[in-house]
Amino acid sequence: MPDPYLCPNCKTNKTRFNLIEQVATPVRLDPNTGSIVENFADRSPDPFHLPYRGPELKVQCAVCGVIDDEIAFIKRAQSMAKQIP
Ligand SMILES: [Zn+2]
Repeated sequence: MPDPYLCPNCKTNKTRFNLIEQVATPVRLDPNTGSIVENFADRSPDPFHLPYRGPELKVQCAVCGVIDDEIAFIKRAQSMAKQIP
């Protein structure tokens, strides 16, 4: 079930957002040139390579432009809902 959003910055927008999916591509780079030596998209990286653990979704408020984790927008909506008696 989806959760309502409220922008934690402008505190008025509940409807207009840009959803930004975080798609991590694990790679190994050449230390001198920065070019990709290995791309681990279809197999597991070596054991020393930490997997991405950030949020799956970031959200941009399409009114004020602030970008934050999805949870920040959900938490703000929940805390506003609690203030209504
Ligand atoms: Zn906003």
